[in-house]
Amino acid sequence: MARLVSLNPVNGTEVGSVPITPVDEVPGVVERARKGQVEWGLLSLEDRRAYLLTAAQRIQDAADTVGRQLTEEMGKPLGEAVGEVRSCGSGLAEELDEMMEALRAETVVDAHTESTIFYDPLGVCVAITPWNFPFAMPHWLVLPALMAGNAVILKPSEETPLTAQAYFELMSEGLPDGVLQIVHGAEAQGKALVDAEVDMIAFTGSREVGKHILGQAAPNLRRVVLELGGKDPLVILDDADVARAAKFAARSSFRNAGQVCVSTERIYVPESIAEPFTEALVSEARKMAVGDGLEEGTRVGPMVSQRQRRHVLEQLEEAVALGARILTGGQASEVGNFLEPVVLDGVSHGMRIATEETFGPVAALIRCPSEDEAVRLANDTPFGLGAVVFGSDEERAYEVARRLDAGMVGVNRGVGGASGTPWIGARESGYGYHKSPAGHRQFTQLRVVSKRA
Ligand code: NAD
Repeated sequence: MARLVSLNPVNGTEVGSVPITPVDEVPGVVERARKGQVEWGLLSLEDRRAYLLTAAQRIQDAADTVGRQLTEEMGKPLGEAVGEVRSCGSGLAEELDEMMEALRAETVVDAHTESTIFYDPLGVCVAITPWNFPFAMPHWLVLPALMAGNAVILKPSEETPLTAQAYFELMSEGLPDGVLQIVHGAEAQGKALVDAEVDMIAFTGSREVGKHILGQAAPNLRRVVLELGGKDPLVILDDADVARAAKFAARSSFRNAGQVCVSTERIYVPESIAEPFTEALVSEARKMAVGDGLEEGTRVGPMVSQRQRRHVLEQLEEAVALGARILTGGQASEVGNFLEPVVLDGVSHGMRIATEETFGPVAALIRCPSEDEAVRLANDTPFGLGAVVFGSDEERAYEVARRLDAGMVGVNRGVGGASGTPWIGARESGYGYHKSPAGHRQFTQLRVVSKRA
């Protein structure tokens, strides 16, 4: 059987491999899921919770080993990799409780009618996921889909099959046959699953692939939830604490080598503080030690693949040709996929780097004459995942935040909301969403049964 080989982005050596699922086996996988779903869907919420909760300890126990493999497979620093795995285990009980509450039937009564809203399983759900958080991204889709009573087929990224395989093994242990399966492969396997007799496609990945999936799912009116790419702006107001804003910008632009859907991809800075802010940002960027994620002290590991690095370098070259200036970084290693964090000044919206997703370690600076202009430019892309505003007058910063066309906006902090809030993209960054009670219900079929009151 053909194998999918996982390569270490530090040096191109093989980390391991998994068997590729032949496309003609996909219908059989779906059939097995369909059979397994019947009893799984009939279980009570409490019973499903009990099954799924057993994974919490297994994930915690495996966090160090799986985290190490994750670093070897996609490059992020070891501490972040272990943290990614561990958090999925430590948060499991609370997440299941929240899901259980969200999925309980509700009764609504008026003068004449008593109606009950049921959150029933949809049936077979396909989860297609990316490589940048190769443990957490499968988890974010698989868990709510399973808890809602669906059978799930996971199709993880071809870049990170080993981490996904580890997730699958930890999560599926003890589950009834067919309830959770994994299909390894790339575009062909993804397409075959979207075309198969399934009930829902939950996807996290790029906007381009999301659009394909939506189109491919349309003739059969398949339920689709898409969490897509972003081009998150950071709007800095003229009263912002420059040092704090620069620290945030560096972390948010360079974490995971910029390969985060809610990375800061462009920074709007007022002319009045542009100089001190730029200086502080350059100094923060130079502190970001680049290296093998397994080495202590590494803040920025290699990019996941040559392809991803080439994409970033092409955007950079175009921007420089159009007048942008690299103030620090930009050195691409000969061995491995390293790229030194870049601070790019003089960026304008005629450059792709200002409006298309970069997904690399680049802080792109756009100097703005006014707050209104910053807001206008921040909203000048088709994306709308996250956005951040920094300013000392919180009320004013909050008002600016409300003018930004994004699904999640942070004021003097990152975009992640309080627990129980959705993970959601506006505009072309999302179609449906997950997390939060309403997000958990997207993995269900609502049914209303009414009788006389
Ligand atoms: P991608 O869209 O290239 O691939 C994602 C998955 O889709 C992979 O498993 C891939 O094999 C599969 N696929 C590819 N073509 C397909 C097709 N035609 N039909 C079905 N499946 C197909 O994305 P990527 O490069 O793996 O990940 C990076 C992207 O993911 C970035 O755009 C990033 O912003 C986005 N992302 C978004 C979020 C979010 O929550 N909004 C989170 C993480 C990553």
